[in-house]
Amino acid sequence: MKNNDNLDAKKEKKVNKIKEQLALLRAKLASEKKHPSPPLEPKPVKIKSETKQPKAKKKAKEAKKKQVRIREEVKKPQVRIKEEAKKKQVRIKEEAKKKAKEAKKKAKEVKKKAKEAKKKQARIKEETKKKAKEAKKKQARIKEETKKKQARIKEEAKKKREEAKKKEEEAKKKEEEAKRTYEEELEEQLTEEEITGFQLEKTDMDKMCNRVCEIIADYESDGILQSQLWKKFKLSSRDGSRLALKLERMGNITREKILEKERWTYKLIIKKTPVSTKSIEGSPCLTCPVEAKCSLDGEISPKTCQWIEDWVMIELKNK
Ligand code: SF4
Repeated sequence: MKNNDNLDAKKEKKVNKIKEQLALLRAKLASEKKHPSPPLEPKPVKIKSETKQPKAKKKAKEAKKKQVRIREEVKKPQVRIKEEAKKKQVRIKEEAKKKAKEAKKKAKEVKKKAKEAKKKQARIKEETKKKAKEAKKKQARIKEETKKKQARIKEEAKKKREEAKKKEEEAKKKEEEAKRTYEEELEEQLTEEEITGFQLEKTDMDKMCNRVCEIIADYESDGILQSQLWKKFKLSSRDGSRLALKLERMGNITREKILEKERWTYKLIIKKTPVSTKSIEGSPCLTCPVEAKCSLDGEISPKTCQWIEDWVMIELKNK
């Protein structure tokens, strides 16, 4: 900018100088027109008049030439000024063009920068989005892992609980095994038929069962230790145990497991005394003519039967 100003000042100085020169020339031309230089007195020559004429003509020609030169000289600065003005215009035009070009370039750069900023913004947005997505994924992964971990812990706890339960059960089983009695082992070995059909050689089992039940009944709800009972009947443990199992299956007694002198055994308690055939030997029902029509809820019933009443009364008196 400073260089341009210096250039303009120089040019202006030059133009002013030319203008001054032009003014001087104009002034000179004007004075020559006013006071034309006196023509040179022709020297008296002895030559003929024919030689004088070309000399005047030559002078006029020179004056004309001088005039033309002066005119040209006057014209020259004007042309130069014009040319310079033209050049200046061209230069201004070029500068304007250059400036416009630069402005265009600048606008282009601004546009480019705006585009880049937009791109950058889009990239940042995209990266932010990507990061958010990744963070979300990470969070989901952490959640999943936590869930898995929790499930694993839960599973392990469950496993441990199950193992503890298993151990407890095993301990219980061992304890139970320690409590196991001979009868229990026997019960496992024998079939139901072998239990209910238990028979001692040369023994009336009905009578024996009735007798055993009568003795157990004497002890009422306190019951009697099976070992004591078998001693009375001189039975082995195996036979006694089988007989107790038989009576239990028949519903006559209940067996209660107890610890006696650090040994697990059974106490037998009466549940139902079996009816002996002897007790109903004199019953009127055995010879009753209307027995077929007799039922608990019928017209002929033991509830209202006089024969039964009489028989029971006699039996009680006899006892
Ligand atoms: S209850 Fe009386 S009627 Fe019935 S069968 Fe016995 S004796 Fe006969």
